[in-house]
Amino acid sequence: MDVGPKHAKDTLLQHLGEEQKHLGAVVPPIFQNSLFVFPDQASFTKAGADPLNNSSLYSRVGNPSLDVAEKKIAMLEGAERCKLVGSGMGAITASIMSTVESGSHVVIVDGCYGPVRDLITDYLARFGVTHTFVDGTCADDVIDATRPETTLVYLESPCSLIFRLQDVRAIAAAARERGVTTIIDNTYSTPLYQSPIEMGVDIVIHSASKYIGGHSDVIAGAICTSEKLMDRILRKEISLLGSILAPFPAWLITRGLRTLKLRLKAHEAAANEVAGWMEEQEWVGRVNHVGLRSFPQRDLYIRQMRGTGGLFSFEPAKQDQDACDTFVNSLKLFQLGVSWGGFESLVVQATVKPMHAKEARKVIRLFVGLEDPEDLMADLTQAAEIAFGS
Ligand SMILES: *Cc1c(COP(=O)(O)O)cnc(C)c1O
Repeated sequence: MDVGPKHAKDTLLQHLGEEQKHLGAVVPPIFQNSLFVFPDQASFTKAGADPLNNSSLYSRVGNPSLDVAEKKIAMLEGAERCKLVGSGMGAITASIMSTVESGSHVVIVDGCYGPVRDLITDYLARFGVTHTFVDGTCADDVIDATRPETTLVYLESPCSLIFRLQDVRAIAAAARERGVTTIIDNTYSTPLYQSPIEMGVDIVIHSASKYIGGHSDVIAGAICTSEKLMDRILRKEISLLGSILAPFPAWLITRGLRTLKLRLKAHEAAANEVAGWMEEQEWVGRVNHVGLRSFPQRDLYIRQMRGTGGLFSFEPAKQDQDACDTFVNSLKLFQLGVSWGGFESLVVQATVKPMHAKEARKVIRLFVGLEDPEDLMADLTQAAEIAFGS
């Protein structure tokens, strides 16, 4: 097995990091061990010389099962390094902590994943880190919010409730000019549909619990960045906060990665079909889906993304809580639950109030799984008849 730069990403994805076979096993085994032993003091001393970059020493800092998945994700993301941690939040917290100290200021998009908001406004505020929220749809507003003490601009594009985009290139370039680090949550797009590092972003994080794992059976996070920034994260946040991923979930991540492209394409096609159909239903007020022609930031979408996935939301025409509850209760294929990115269709309600909006709106977020889209539309139709009388 010999894969290298001459091969396409699809080929590399299947084989990178697993060139060396163990007892001929075509699938790399799970290295379910906490430590590695050495035949003599000389080899032990050698391994210990660079402990943070040695994946066969102690599994709190590295493990061969993680190596395989990390190499694949780094390659897809165009990053020098990737590190897998215990969850998407673990990846976010470690990355953010690596960019701030007491007195730092953070500019962060208002539509970010909920717990990140809490991390910034409550947890890090305790350590003297201040912040400014920005709507994010106007690059100049994001840049204007930076101050001399700003050390981080935190992006999530698209954000995962109403799917607003940020102009990633423009913001990353302006931040770099000012010496401000940028982090983006790229979970929605996966490395396949958006390449933030090519667009100048410093650190890309993923919740691998979503598409990358892909089967709703693993919680994991990934940090992708340069050798230089990763060195600090390895020495401090990975090593000290201790949130590394365990070998078995890392093995599941490798398994999920093999079919990422196929799954994502299927989610994309089905969600575009369902979302397009929903736009025409009278019980639907508005559909928030990046993949629709009517998407308000369509030009920006085309400039910085290569596709969309299975996730979108809609505002019911009837903004009535009881009717919305009846709707989700009446669905039979869409199951009520958080998260997304697996095989199964999901539904969840939320109330959103974008920064400049006058009032909050009820949205229902749908994740289109790998079921037949006709079945899913029939399910939505029967639930809408019961809930909204149409
Ligand atoms: C789920 C999610 C996270 C958090 O990931 P976990 O693996 O649940 O910790 C972060 N960002 C986005 C966009 C998510 O959907």
